[in-house]
Amino acid sequence: MKFFVNDRCIACGLCVSVCPEVFELERDGIAYAKEEPESGVICAKATEAMEGCPVDAIEKDD
Ligand code: SF4
Repeated sequence: MKFFVNDRCIACGLCVSVCPEVFELERDGIAYAKEEPESGVICAKATEAMEGCPVDAIEKDD
């Protein structure tokens, strides 16, 4: 499963707080998915981050 951050990101940083294993912030604060989750636990955290994003900027590809 792969995660993507689309252009709706408002740089709130929530996804990085929830799942730093997958998400990281660019220098301008916009998030991106740096890698695919390595395990089911990390995948669950990334999914939690996706569901918590206030502007639905995170998408996933199965
Ligand atoms: S939670 Fe959503 S809006 Fe906030 S930094 Fe992550 S992708 Fe961007």
